[in-house]
Amino acid sequence: MLSALGHRTVVAHGWVEALRAFDDRQIDLVLMDAVMPTVDGFKLTRILRERMQSYVPILFLTALANRQARERGIQVGGDDFLTKPLSPVELAVRVGAMLRIRHLTKVLEAKSLELDRLANLDALTGIGNRRAFDRALAHEWERAVRYGHELGIALFDLDGFKQVNDTFGHAAGDELLACFARTLEGSAETPAQVFRFGGEEFVACLPHADEQRTWNFAERVRRQFERRTAVEGAAGPRTVSAGVAAIGDPRVHSPGMLVELADRALYRAKNEGRNRVCRAADDDGAGGRPILADTGS
Ligand code: GH3
Ligand code: MG
Ligand code: MG
Repeated sequence: MLSALGHRTVVAHGWVEALRAFDDRQIDLVLMDAVMPTVDGFKLTRILRERMQSYVPILFLTALANRQARERGIQVGGDDFLTKPLSPVELAVRVGAMLRIRHLTKVLEAKSLELDRLANLDALTGIGNRRAFDRALAHEWERAVRYGHELGIALFDLDGFKQVNDTFGHAAGDELLACFARTLEGSAETPAQVFRFGGEEFVACLPHADEQRTWNFAERVRRQFERRTAVEGAAGPRTVSAGVAAIGDPRVHSPGMLVELADRALYRAKNEGRNRVCRAADDDGAGGRPILADTGS
């Protein structure tokens, strides 16, 4: 009957075959008997609902007309009932309604994915934003701690950036930010590891890198940016300062502390004359800002 209505169908005999055949990227509607041996339609519905990433309507096909059975079916995650013997008109109408809901759900799910993607991107530079960095750092921190990996971060701040805006205009400033983002992206092993921290500050997260490797990375970025801006862009040769820190530092007990130490190193890079990369390990505690209490968060 479904084929006659123009639908493609997959037939599964029993729950094992149904689980094997079910794929929420391919299947738009499940029609199933409520009464089946071993695992009945209600149990199978529960299992399917747990596995679904995307909402696929489930229609029960049953001779059970009683109220409890119907209530239970809806409770476990079914969407509607069709009673046997089945009329072709009834089938066409209910399936049509369910497929419309499925279609709208897919549209909403796709939009929600796209919004989530956009919520993690910086609109100006196209790289990840602060929110994406916080997420990535928390994720990498957990992995590093669990598996005993290294983890380094490099915090960058463009030198004399305000002057670029003041002298060449905001558009030139924006262009320079995009230029730095491209330099950073081009130097990273995966583009997913670089982020705009805010304003003219950027951050890179380097899983498996100790402080020396993180420093090497930041130094490469620093040199490339200097070279690149010397030949392209309206604002002339520009420089960047950076601070690096890694998880091996005994003061680091939280992701926030990693950022704090990199920020202190960056502050030192600025104080020592800019256009350089400083390490958290070289921090003697003198002359810098006080370390904030580590909340362990
Ligand atoms: P320093 O060498 O000490 O880092 O000096 P600086 O001028 O780079 O730093 P400062 O913090 O004084 O200036 C940062 C400027 O960045 C101020 C702000 O107007 C500008 N800015 C922040 N976000 C944007 C943006 O999205 N576009 C542009 N064009 N400018 C921005
Ligand atoms: Mg700044
Ligand atoms: Mg700056």
